[in-house]
Amino acid sequence: MNTPFDLTDKVAIVTGASRGLGKAISIGLAKAGSNVVAVDVLDVGRTIKEVRRLGRDSIGVKVDVRKKREVEAMVKQTLDRFGKVDILVNNAGIIIIAPTVEMSEEDWDKVLDINLKGQFLCAQAVGKVMIKQRSGKIINISSINGEFVFPNSAAYNASKAGVILLTKTLAYEWGKNNINVNAICPGFMETPMLWDIHKDQRQLVKKRLRDLPLGRFARPEDFIGTVIYLASKASNYVTGHALFVDGGWTLGWPGIKRLPLDPALAQALQNLP
Ligand code: NAP
Repeated sequence: MNTPFDLTDKVAIVTGASRGLGKAISIGLAKAGSNVVAVDVLDVGRTIKEVRRLGRDSIGVKVDVRKKREVEAMVKQTLDRFGKVDILVNNAGIIIIAPTVEMSEEDWDKVLDINLKGQFLCAQAVGKVMIKQRSGKIINISSINGEFVFPNSAAYNASKAGVILLTKTLAYEWGKNNINVNAICPGFMETPMLWDIHKDQRQLVKKRLRDLPLGRFARPEDFIGTVIYLASKASNYVTGHALFVDGGWTLGWPGIKRLPLDPALAQALQNLP
């Protein structure tokens, strides 16, 4: 292939690879030439099968990204099989929706541990290898929630904002080692996660759809081009960025306009001269 986006014979680790965005990214990287280590707490059999059908090598590793020992064992398994790691896509994530006053400590910890600590542990274990190699591309999946407020999502918002600053910190520290670290902030995407949140809320989903300049939710495949760009030599001078891939949603930040006004504030505004 030999284009700036060619990933032939690269080795990519993708977390949360059993379904949704992680599965689409694994297949997209394979189409660009990369071998794939598919990581998840769930079975990754279907992802591996599709990657292999494309003529690339693939192994699956069952890992809870919150557990340092499991993450380090997964990196060792990758080195035993492939001898190097070129690309890490930190994608595994969960969301728990609850008003802040009702959110349990356990739920807060779970979201922060998977979404933020998990990315730290994977980046740390892979970063040690990349520093020795003097090369590497790390792509952290954040969200539009990493910069814009969604109510009843304090833990998720905080975790995704943390991912953006983690990305910038690693980019700064590891730039001298020839490692690029960037984040992608997806907008609303049609995956099991979206429908889990909005079950029984078809009206809200329709409203969100109207707010999108490009007029549709993203499909997981919409992120592949950005991932390939950030994983390839085409982005060699790009580091520390958070790229919003959101169908233009953040152009208008429409959500904030829909929040009902506090009645006392509404009254006070009415009484202004
Ligand atoms: P998804 O369909 O729920 O897939 C996430 C995968 O990660 C699942 O297979 C999940 O397994 C796995 N996972 C969860 N906890 C894990 C752990 N501790 N260790 C290893 N794997 C774990 O979600 P998605 O929609 O594809 O989201 C992928 C990423 O995009 C997430 O970081 C999410 O925050 C972000 N994102 C999604 C949207 C959206 O609209 N969907 C928007 C912005 C950003 P389980 O099913 O067992 O949890």
